[in-house]
Parts: sequence; structure tokens; C-alpha cells
Amino acid sequence: MNPTIWMNQISWLDYKQRLIEEQPPIFLPVGALEQHGPHLPLGTDGLLASAVAADTAERVKGLVAPTLSYGYKSQPKCGGGQHFCGTTSVDAATLVGQVRDAVREFARHGASKLVIVNGHYENQWFLIEGIDLGLRDAKAADPACALQVMRLEYWDFMTPDTLGDVFPDGFPGFALEHAAVLETSMMLHYHPHLVRLDLIPDDGPADFPPYDMYPARTDWVPPSGVLSSARGSDATKGMLLANEVAQRMAEAVANGFILPKA
Ligand code: ZN
Ligand code: MN
Repeated sequence: MNPTIWMNQISWLDYKQRLIEEQPPIFLPVGALEQHGPHLPLGTDGLLASAVAADTAERVKGLVAPTLSYGYKSQPKCGGGQHFCGTTSVDAATLVGQVRDAVREFARHGASKLVIVNGHYENQWFLIEGIDLGLRDAKAADPACALQVMRLEYWDFMTPDTLGDVFPDGFPGFALEHAAVLETSMMLHYHPHLVRLDLIPDDGPADFPPYDMYPARTDWVPPSGVLSSARGSDATKGMLLANEVAQRMAEAVANGFILPKA
């Protein structure tokens, strides 16, 4: 049988056999098409979610489904906002619908463990809604449906110890870490040829008031799109973070699903 972790590279017969024989966890990465400063590509969130999903799938004999590559609208305080060229986002209802349909379809084919790996801050509540509606659909179609869904933001698997090593001068927080040291270091680990270290800007950290305004105040956001500096990023830090995330995600997957009663 095809041993790959990539679901879109195996046949339907291989997929069916693996579902029946192994009940593999299926990873669904979710990203965004969003500016990440001058030095990182627009697809950074999906590329990183997919990469950590793949590293985790290797550890738990899982499968990785193709990434949902468009995310919910970028917000100034965590992604720079919608005013950047190339930040190509979907309405909440669209993302909810995509996740709802995916959950229902994985359930319909007999998957029992689905892991939704979020790489874009703004997606979170719409993933939750999509999972809830998808499971409701699946239960309505088949009350014996066995699917359980785990949802996670991969950065929550970074420990304070490791963040302390990566940020000797203090961690600015995940929201401001947009296109900064975490994402840049992890991209240097996984996709070094996509990173332009020579273009890292000196902006940041951004200083936002404790409220939001609509329409968004674009002048609150550094013109480069980077919310805190990416200086100090390197592939070693990226490897440290990536390995910790994959190892701890694998433990979560091994422990998180309730086994069906025999
Ligand atoms: Zn990002
Ligand atoms: Mn993002």
C-alpha cells in the first residue's frame, strides 16, 4: 500500500483500506492567503500548518488532507488587516461552510479522528462553528457516526521554556508575532528558499489601543505589514519550535481521542 502521509496522493482504495484497518488520524490544515511582510510568502499560515501537520502525521501514522488555503479576514492587530495587496480572504460563512462540509464528508466515509490544524489566528471561531455544524449534520445522517474532531492552533504547543530560549528579551505574544520571529524561523526550517532574510524590515512592535475601529485604521499598522521585528530569526530556532510542536501534537493526538467501547 502507498505509505505516503498525503491523502491527495493515494487512491480511493488505499484510503478506504487505511480507514478500515488503521483508523488513522486525518489532519486538515487551515491557513490563509495573507501578507507576511516583504520577507515571507502570502501562503505562510497554510504552509506552516501543513508542515507541522505532516511532521505530526509521520509520528502517529496519520494522513494529511489538502490545506484549506483561504482564511477569515485579516485583522489589523494580528495579521495587519485587509488593506494589503494579496491578502485574499473569505467571509466567515464561507469558511464555516468549507469546514462544515469537510467534517461531514470525512464522517461519511468512516473516519473517526479528524485533527483540524489552524495556522491563522483569525480563523479560530469559524473553525469551531464549522466543526459543530458538520458534526450535527453527520449525526443527523448517521446517529452511529464515530467521528471525533480535535481542533488546535499549532503555536499553543510551544512551551514557555522554548519561547524563553527563542525570545531572550521577552516574548511579545502570539498576536503580535505576525511575520515575526516565530513564523520566520519556522519558515527558515521548513521552506528556507521562500524566505528573503535581506528584506526583513525594522518596524515594530506595533502599539495598538485596547479597542478596534471599523473601517480599520490602516495607519495603526506598520506599512511593511510586520507587527513585531523578525530580526533574530534563524533556522535553528525554527527547528526547535517545529520539533516541539510536532512532538507535543503527536502526544495530544495519541491521548485526545476517546476510544470506542469494544
Ligand atoms: Zn501568519
Ligand atoms: Mn495569519
